[in-house]
This record gives sequence, structure tokens and C-alpha cells, in this order.
Amino acid sequence: MALNKKQRLTETISRLKTEYPSSKCSLIYQNPFQLLVATILSAQCTDERVNKVTAILFQKYPDVYSMAKLSRQQIGKEIYSTGFYNNKSRSIKSLSETLIMEYGGKVPRSLEELVKLSGVGRKTANVVLGNAFNIPGITVDTHVTRISNLLGLVETKNAVKIEFQLMEIMDSKNWTQSGHLFIDHGRKVCIARRPQCANCVLIDLCPSAN
Ligand code: SF4
Repeated sequence: MALNKKQRLTETISRLKTEYPSSKCSLIYQNPFQLLVATILSAQCTDERVNKVTAILFQKYPDVYSMAKLSRQQIGKEIYSTGFYNNKSRSIKSLSETLIMEYGGKVPRSLEELVKLSGVGRKTANVVLGNAFNIPGITVDTHVTRISNLLGLVETKNAVKIEFQLMEIMDSKNWTQSGHLFIDHGRKVCIARRPQCANCVLIDLCPSAN
């Protein structure tokens, strides 16, 4: 009997958990504010590069109060090598000030409040909620977009639609972990433009397998 989407997704998550038992957020952080900053820096940049930059940045400016004292230009200098440093430094400066003025220096714990912060979209908000606060959220990045389409679980490139469609067919206990699993699988096996289908544990579940 053919499996429906929900059953295929459940089986997919189960197999990926076996395949990548230590799959987790690869950004290094000590508190929710640091994860928020690191996630903003990770746009169009590798997590490896971000971790190199934040190792120095967070040593010097570990919290929202020390970060907010920097000028946008000073932040830009610190994060230059992550790319798009003008936009990123503007966001970090602005959200640091907002967190101090409106949230007592704390990172809010709801998606609605997080996405109001400068430079924070649903993807960043879900990373922070899931990993810093253990509040389930599906992070839709390029790997999740590609693989969920290849697996026939969704038929759209729109990240918000993908997030909501996956939420409907995925147990909430897997929401946060699914992002890490898909990212690991996308980096190691279902690589963009050259998927290694012959080595893929999902081959019998995947309508795109060649
Ligand atoms: S079978 Fe191929 S296309 Fe499908 S998920 Fe695996 S690697 Fe990607």
C-alpha cells in the first residue's frame, strides 16, 4: 500500500535520525542573544565562517548591552567577512537597542515578537525559538526547500508555505530537529544539482530518485 505524505515524512525523519544521530544547530552560542546574532550573520554565509567571526565577536561583546554600545560601523568591521555587512550590522545595532528598550535586554520567546526585530524573518525566529528556547519551529532554508520538494512533500519554493504545509504533516516534536536533519542530508547526500541517490536512505520514499 502506498504511503501518504504524512507517513512518508514520518518515515523520512525516522531514517534521517538514524543516519545523523548527532544532528544539531552548527552555530556556536552561549545565550539566546548570541544565537540571534549568529543566525543573522549566517545569511549568505557558511556556519563555519560565522563561528570563526563570532568566536572573536562574542568574546569581546558577549551580550546585548555590550553590543548595543558599538556603532553600526564598529559592528560592520567585526563582521565584515560574513558578507552583506552593511545590512547585518544595521540589523544587529537596531535589534540590540530594541531588545534593551522594549524587552529588558532579553530575547522575546514568541515568533510574533521576534519577527518585529530588525533583520529577523520567520527562518531566524524559528532557529532561535527551537534551539535557544526549545519551542518547536520548522526552519525552512535552501536545503529544506529543495529536499521537501524532491520528496514530493510540498510543491512550492515559498518558504512560508513550505513551513505551514510541513507543520500540517509533521509531529511538532520533530519540527526543530527536522531542519537540522534536512540540512545534514542536503550537505552530505542530497546535494544541490548532484544528489547522490544511490547512497540515499530515502531512495524508496523519493519520487525524484534517479
Ligand atoms: S533519492 Fe536522491 S533526490 Fe531523493 S532525497 Fe535522496 S538524494 Fe535527494
